[in-house]
Amino acid sequence: MAHAFVLSDDSILCRQMPDGWWPLQVQLSPDSNDLSEQAYQVGHVTLHESLAPNHWLSDDSTGNDADDTVDANMAHSFTAHATSAMTYDYAVAHNMTLPIIAESSGNTFVPYRKLMTHLPVALSDQISQAIQLLSWQADTQFCSRCASPTVHADQGERAMVCPICRLRQYPRVQPCVITAITRSNPVTGEMQILLAHHHRHGQQNLPPMYGLIAGFVEVGESLEHAVVREVAEEVNIRVSDIRYVSSQPWPFPSNLMLGFRASYANGDIILQEDELAHADFFDLSNLPRIPPKGSIARDLIDQVAKEQNIDL
Ligand SMILES: [Zn+2]
Repeated sequence: MAHAFVLSDDSILCRQMPDGWWPLQVQLSPDSNDLSEQAYQVGHVTLHESLAPNHWLSDDSTGNDADDTVDANMAHSFTAHATSAMTYDYAVAHNMTLPIIAESSGNTFVPYRKLMTHLPVALSDQISQAIQLLSWQADTQFCSRCASPTVHADQGERAMVCPICRLRQYPRVQPCVITAITRSNPVTGEMQILLAHHHRHGQQNLPPMYGLIAGFVEVGESLEHAVVREVAEEVNIRVSDIRYVSSQPWPFPSNLMLGFRASYANGDIILQEDELAHADFFDLSNLPRIPPKGSIARDLIDQVAKEQNIDL
């Protein structure tokens, strides 16, 4: 049985559950089961199953069939894999059966940023994939070389092909490096981490949010070079002992965050004032407000803290 997520830009149709918002998986009508037809229309993409740990499958393994009979058109048993994703506009244009969408009905569009703090990684990654593919598809309807309308490649290959000049446009991933830089407090010896507060995070009525130094990899440089350059540009210090930790897809719009650790080597912090409002080394026992769980920035900070037996 084919199921689809329903998206509107960076938001996904969700249902309020006791543990927060969860993506709804809309059951495609029987005559739309032929995805080989459906998938090649703008606004509808097929998804790969995420290979991340899919522990949401075993969390909720009872009563799935019963769930389906409660509401024949909705698959609100989250055990089903969504095999595709579509935009809300596509769903409406194709007369899909959708639930009532209003905050009061318990179903509404929720920004992905709010979901990633509590969804299992595999589900979160699948939604990230859906957001990126739908926006890639919307952005590649014309050939970027000769401006002719493009068509989907045959045989399930993810490419938009120009029928005139044969240019193939594939989904692109933009690599970004993000780095947790540590040192010992020069006075007390306590482990410290470099955190920076961006101007753009200063709009809310909350204490300022501090994150890690991050930036895009430029053409022609290695990931390690990008770490060194970004750190030097943003806070003017030198780092050593650069090592890769883990990565996270970040669909705003199609970044792949590559998480690194590094040690402070030398230099005084001088801010790149266009980007940063403040940056400093903070004792792990006395951190400012940091990014929420689910983000790679938080994972890196948590990893450093854990090594010092500190639970954040
Ligand atoms: Zn062309």
